[in-house]
Amino acid sequence: MTPLAWHRGALERLLADRDRMPHALLLRGPAGIGKGEFARALAASVLCETPRGAFACGTCVSCHWFSQGNHPDYREIVPESAAEDEAEGEGEAAPAKAEKAKSLVIKIEQIRAIADFVALSTHRSGWRVLVLRPAESLHPAAANALLKTLEEPPPRTLIVLVSDRPARLLPTIRSRCRDYPLPMPRTDEALAWLREQGVASAEVALASAGGAPLLARDLAEPEEAELRRRLLAELARPSGADALGFGAAVDRATVERTIHWMQTWVNDLARVKLAGSPRHHPDFAAALQARARHADLERLFALDRELVEARRLAAHPLNPRLVAEHLLMAYNRATSGSKP
Ligand SMILES: [Zn+2]
Repeated sequence: MTPLAWHRGALERLLADRDRMPHALLLRGPAGIGKGEFARALAASVLCETPRGAFACGTCVSCHWFSQGNHPDYREIVPESAAEDEAEGEGEAAPAKAEKAKSLVIKIEQIRAIADFVALSTHRSGWRVLVLRPAESLHPAAANALLKTLEEPPPRTLIVLVSDRPARLLPTIRSRCRDYPLPMPRTDEALAWLREQGVASAEVALASAGGAPLLARDLAEPEEAELRRRLLAELARPSGADALGFGAAVDRATVERTIHWMQTWVNDLARVKLAGSPRHHPDFAAALQARARHADLERLFALDRELVEARRLAAHPLNPRLVAEHLLMAYNRATSGSKP
């Protein structure tokens, strides 16, 4: 378990002095740059019995357990919904499940279970590692329970919080963790990795993900690429988007990504309007130029704020079709050329 190439240096710096390891760490940075991979590489290295510098050896008993996903001194705590997504793996796309509420938050029961975990003696090296992600999904009661553990840190225990939105964490939690921002990769590193992953049109994928390679890989999946193509074609239409027609096809599985693509498109429109060049969708440059001529900057900014809010709410049970319709209508108003 080695970190992604662009995070090797960050892992080396963190583990330069293993005797001064923090009890708790806040790994933060933009979505899709590999923070989860970093957390696992860190855990593997801390638990490894014969680490090579900052990196796990990959061959000891501990590394073997870790790679099998059953190291007894390691726990990863995620919301139920995320655990289920991962278990589904690469099977056929899960049909939008009958809406039996899967928890989107890390619950207090999950944090209470930590107390049992840290009370046991460790199985191997004497260290134990807990990873919580995304940390902003901690239910407030769970966050308070975690705070108790952070206030009295158990010996030789490393608690790693992973977050793209650290501002949403309780300040009291943030202040008890060592802050560890992870860098974005350079473009050449990110492109090399995407090509290794077999992503065709790596440049387009990386641009559409704002430079975050893991997000780019996800967005390049055929279904995602198809959603992007359909939505951007809709947003590019000179007569405006068909809000009702397109909205009707948006469901719980696609609403968040629909909002993501609208955000990146609106962002590009504003850049083009301000005489810049598109950052996310250079492959749609001509369409962006055309729409930007009719767009109203004030309204684009207002729409952007609305999209940010919609994104925040997308994790909650709303009517996805109505959300999409509403946003597309607001988009049409912002780009119709008529003055408010
Ligand atoms: Zn090892």
